[in-house]
Amino acid sequence: MTKKFPNLFMILFFTFIVSFITSMSDAKAHQMGEVNSQSSLNVRENPSETANIIGSLEPNERVEYIAVDDGWGQITYKGQLGYISTDFITSEGSESAGNGSNPSNDMEGSPGAGHIQHIVLDPGHGGVDPGALGHNLQEKEITLDVAQRVEAQLKNEGIDVTLTRSTDATTSLAERATVANQSGADLFVSIHANASTSNFARGIETYYSSGSQESRNLANTLQMQITDGVETIDRGIIESNFYVLRTTTMPSALVELGFVTNGQDASLLRTDSFRNQAASSIVTGIKNY
Ligand SMILES: [Zn+2]
Repeated sequence: MTKKFPNLFMILFFTFIVSFITSMSDAKAHQMGEVNSQSSLNVRENPSETANIIGSLEPNERVEYIAVDDGWGQITYKGQLGYISTDFITSEGSESAGNGSNPSNDMEGSPGAGHIQHIVLDPGHGGVDPGALGHNLQEKEITLDVAQRVEAQLKNEGIDVTLTRSTDATTSLAERATVANQSGADLFVSIHANASTSNFARGIETYYSSGSQESRNLANTLQMQITDGVETIDRGIIESNFYVLRTTTMPSALVELGFVTNGQDASLLRTDSFRNQAASSIVTGIKNY
């Protein structure tokens, strides 16, 4: 009997550690994927097999989704909120999950401060698409609020700002890219907050489009600034093919300011002080680029 107890304890302990590590490694919520079903994939009103069907995606269609629940992804479908079964999605995002590299000082190729005159800020989600949800926070509210704080600070510095949305309006990814590309801006910064099916997942990460050294530099400087002095985890910078990153013609980055699904991150994300600090950090990052 005396020997059995520690064995059982060790098994439970390792089970906990393994499930913790597993939950960390697939923590990334915003994902790119491709429909891998033979026929069209139903888009439903709710994350349930019995929910109303509001439309469908075609085989091989690419889609951006938020992993909201076991086996379900939340998408915006023709201006409506919808859900797809992720059993029929090949995730492109999972490859880089947990693969973030910490920012370094490889700022080669950066045009340097003083060249930046015009920025496009892209507050993620909006309207029917709340984005990530958790702890009574809505991603779409955080992203617009932080973007408007960044806008005010940049304008004080004499830098022009274009917002892809300035109200709680449903805005497609294509509309965002069009606004950015027609603006003639120097940089594009998309602002998001994260979510995960694991409550443990927390921290700040920044994405950039593969193949662009300028975008990597921008992501690097933003990530360094935003994580500086903040009590959370630095998840590093990550390559991604997110639509707004691969279709905008100027250097671009997408910041994930923390997880609304994590208690500690959520209590940061709801405060004025964190939002102001994040906004100042984004401004400093832009000026240092
Ligand atoms: Zn988002």
